[in-house]
Amino acid sequence: MRSLVEKLCRERVLSEEEFIALIQGRDPQVTALLAQRAAAVRRKVYGDRVFIRGLIEFTNHCKNDCYYCGLRCSDRVVERYRLSEEEILGCCHRGYEMGFRTFVLQGGEDPGYPPERICALVARIKEAHPDCAVTLSVGEQPREVYQSWFDAGADRYLLRHETADGDHYGMLHPARMKLGNRLRCLRDLKDIGYQVGCGFMVGSPGQRPAHIARDLAFIHELQPHMVGIGPFIPQKDTPFGKEKAGSAELTVYLLSIIRLMLPNVLLPATTALGTIHPRGRELGIAAGANVCMPNLSPLAVRKKYAIYDDKICTGDEAAECIRCLRGRIESVGCVMDMGRGDHVTLSGKEVDRYV
Ligand code: SAH
Repeated sequence: MRSLVEKLCRERVLSEEEFIALIQGRDPQVTALLAQRAAAVRRKVYGDRVFIRGLIEFTNHCKNDCYYCGLRCSDRVVERYRLSEEEILGCCHRGYEMGFRTFVLQGGEDPGYPPERICALVARIKEAHPDCAVTLSVGEQPREVYQSWFDAGADRYLLRHETADGDHYGMLHPARMKLGNRLRCLRDLKDIGYQVGCGFMVGSPGQRPAHIARDLAFIHELQPHMVGIGPFIPQKDTPFGKEKAGSAELTVYLLSIIRLMLPNVLLPATTALGTIHPRGRELGIAAGANVCMPNLSPLAVRKKYAIYDDKICTGDEAAECIRCLRGRIESVGCVMDMGRGDHVTLSGKEVDRYV
């Protein structure tokens, strides 16, 4: 196992067979070795800074029907909401006052927020806060739509690929959703000039080590700026409501592998990781992650964005989340950075001498 870790550090990639062996050979010693190497690489590139993004979950309407997600259109229990432009700008304004310089607008694929409406919204946010980055995360769109949002000022886009294996993708989604289109979206987004994030759930139903190995190979091929991974957590009203949750330990292990594969990557310690384990985010940061995304949505809607059960931080004001996060980040020897936190290749710094 040690030699695989050394090889990964040296060559930044392994074959799918080697990734499978590394995943299956996980034990406390390899975990510690990977975490130590990954944290050192993160430190070389980004120092001890952990970037903070303000997440605004602006609509929970969705036309898709992903089997794992609590916002799927077949769910009749969820109380739907859609924030107005004024409410979203209000969230950004309050966030700005607290020091946030990145706003992440995430939502379902909501026909009530058609492309032109999002275009105008992005333009208004950028006009009000020209020194801030805007990240969008609203699913699959035609290339022209992504282009129009980019032209309106959007800087980054998060679209997890969910699984890079076509058969596994078919187990997680209805037949009308195709892996090919999701991958097309990611390539278009990169081509247009966004800072792009892909990613997947750890421990999603039917996921085997070979699927994860394929995810890692795909991530290496795409070379995204960001990678979002978090444990799958069942949501009781979905078809996967009785499935087992993914593990924090495997998620943290994979965070280290991804950091070693992409030294410059922006890698969140996700809310799902903090939900499944009380110190999940700290463990993630200690293992190579360098982003946290606290919630800036109005308290009144937080509980309604229930993609999975028992989500943390649905009852705390953003200011309280910041205070709590600062303590967690400092507890693992890092510091909170409220700046835009662009990918290092876009901030003019020399990047390749990381080892
Ligand atoms: N509609 C947007 C945003 C989806 S929510 C899009 O399609 O990109 C953001 C992410 O939450 C998803 O990409 C998925 O990976 C994750 N997610 C959804 N349901 C989940 C669950 N039950 N457990 C853990 N993560 C989940």
